[in-house]
Amino acid sequence: MKPDHPDHAPPLDAAARKAVAPVICYPVDSLPAPDLGPYRAAREGWERTARVMVPPREASSFDVPAGHFFRITSIEGPQVGDLNLWNAHDLSERFFSGKTRALHGTHLGAGDRMWSNLPHLRAMATITEDTLDWYGFDAFGGGVHDVIGTRCDPYTHALLTAGGQYHHCCHSNLTRALAGRTGMPLTEAEWHVHDVLNVFMCTGFTRDTGQYFMKASPVRPGDFIEFFAEIDLLGALSACPDGDCSAEHSSDGAACHPLLVEVFRPPSPPQGWSPPAANPYDRSHGRKAHEAGGKAQR
Ligand SMILES: [Zn+2]
Repeated sequence: MKPDHPDHAPPLDAAARKAVAPVICYPVDSLPAPDLGPYRAAREGWERTARVMVPPREASSFDVPAGHFFRITSIEGPQVGDLNLWNAHDLSERFFSGKTRALHGTHLGAGDRMWSNLPHLRAMATITEDTLDWYGFDAFGGGVHDVIGTRCDPYTHALLTAGGQYHHCCHSNLTRALAGRTGMPLTEAEWHVHDVLNVFMCTGFTRDTGQYFMKASPVRPGDFIEFFAEIDLLGALSACPDGDCSAEHSSDGAACHPLLVEVFRPPSPPQGWSPPAANPYDRSHGRKAHEAGGKAQR
């Protein structure tokens, strides 16, 4: 956090330096934006192929073939969920929360994509509908479906509570779900768990101190967020022990509810859709130029 009383006096031109206007780090004008029309039209006549309940304070896994949709729906009561996505055939390709944030901003909405980690960096899923899109940003700077908050985990909890042990953080729930799905030992599955999309969670950074905050989620039963799988996906969703995130963190004190995941197969893929190609970077990392430079020096 920034100090209330800085050690160093501001320079004479401090006001001018602070008044410099920001520029967007990653203008996405050159990134082909998905046309949601064909995606939504493809849902006509779709067939539900799987229905997975995520119990409170637990996680469940699910499979979504490329070209299928999946929906996460609030049922029974307000509840947030922590979502992990992997390439179903290669768990080393997984959702890259940080770069997705850099490309699309702190909170995701319809038309945004969930990008995979380096060296893959391609669209894993496209968000096709979000019933909480009306929320936008509130007066505190809070928004829904963030990619800023990693996931609740027992290590942070232990640090902040002088060694307290809690076993139903989303990190542990996702670890157990992946281990159960793959047969891996828990300690191996844990390495594959990654920073999440915080589904339905309402978060932001305080304007004065820049601290990560959460507040009661505006989600209500019947609200959903829907995705289109661009590649074959293995997913896992944790119904966070924080419930609607109105108060408690990493404890059994919050009211928690299940979440519903449904997978749908459309009669045919969206018009004009094709699976994402491999990232076009050649992965030489400048080796040829580097070698040429080395030879010139000798
Ligand atoms: Zn959590």
